[in-house]
Amino acid sequence: MKRSLTRRNVLSLATGVAGVSMLAPLIGQGSPEQAVATSGVTMGTTYRLTLPRLPEGISIEKVADETRRVFDRVDFTMSTYRADSDVSRFNRSAAGEWLTTSTETSEVVAAALGIAERTKGAFDPTVGRAVDLWGFGPAGPSFRVPTPEAVGVTRRGIGFSSLEVRRDPPALRKRREELHIDLSGIAEGYALDQLAASLESLGLRDFLIELGGELVARGRNLEGRRWVVGVDAPDSAHDRWRRRVALDGKAIATSGDYRKFFMAGGRRYSHVIDPRSGKPVDHDLAAVTVIDNSSMRADALATALLVMGPEAGREFGTRCGIAALFLTRGASGFIEYMTDLFAGYLLESVT
Ligand code: FAD
Repeated sequence: MKRSLTRRNVLSLATGVAGVSMLAPLIGQGSPEQAVATSGVTMGTTYRLTLPRLPEGISIEKVADETRRVFDRVDFTMSTYRADSDVSRFNRSAAGEWLTTSTETSEVVAAALGIAERTKGAFDPTVGRAVDLWGFGPAGPSFRVPTPEAVGVTRRGIGFSSLEVRRDPPALRKRREELHIDLSGIAEGYALDQLAASLESLGLRDFLIELGGELVARGRNLEGRRWVVGVDAPDSAHDRWRRRVALDGKAIATSGDYRKFFMAGGRRYSHVIDPRSGKPVDHDLAAVTVIDNSSMRADALATALLVMGPEAGREFGTRCGIAALFLTRGASGFIEYMTDLFAGYLLESVT
């Protein structure tokens, strides 16, 4: 779950982890004994890159520039908030015509279609119009439940089988005029993978990158241990970590219904859309956290499992060997379920 600029994040560094509480004042410093960090704003959210140290000959400015370059590239090409991005141009394009895109956009759409097939459409990059209709797109919140007619029309526009991708030369094509794509459920994960690869090519081996509450951890922290990441309790008013996991070479992402939502008629309407209904998910599963080698896959699978709901999500996660943590609202608090693979990353229980 990405952190918007006005909301707290779901995943973040756990308090008490070596160096973490010290990081903010150390931004830009390069002493071998101190962690180094660079942070900023991108894609409507925040990021932070933490390194235990800088390799010889690499300055924090170079790392910061590279971080900015990678994130800008994804923002400029895949944002629905920019009229000139590949995604926005595609959403305005006519049916039946190939629209040329960047290599990166076609790569992400190809991955999104793969996950859509694997999850039988629980994750579907063609939910764009529904995201807008319910007030979670670039037009901003409406806080209103749309009419059943409007929902019906929008739902008929969803369907990943009407979206085609070509890798060489990179292009997208839609079979139906009304089809709109939205890559917000996968593109930030992709950006993290891209940055991790880029940092490794600069010779960096140990780092933790956080983008809007999703993280990629590589190597070791300042203490020479695996990076420790806290998973929030969905109801926490304070930084209360429900679980802590230790990661090296992994990504972690959460999708939830409790940061971006509105209430109407006593019901919660979240930004995660069930493509079958064209409406926000309607069940008691509040959050799903996924750990994976790929940040892009973790990002999209967390959304898919949340859409599937408590039973089907758990069944799918277990059957498909996904490291996943499920938090469902119960009569007396949250009910937790985790797959065995997720349990393998647990540091300890903190609740
Ligand atoms: P996740 O849980 O990872 O995914 C949910 C999001 O995916 C939804 O918000 C929706 O957009 C989409 N989605 C919903 N249901 C489904 C489904 N069934 N299948 C697939 N996708 C689904 N926000 C701003 O406010 N301003 C910006 O300028 C801005 N720029 C952005 C640029 C880019 C390139 C991207 C990728 C996102 C941008 N965002 C921007 C959006 C924002 O930062 C988050 O990505 C968004 O709020 C979703 O974050 P999340 O982790 O909470 O969602």
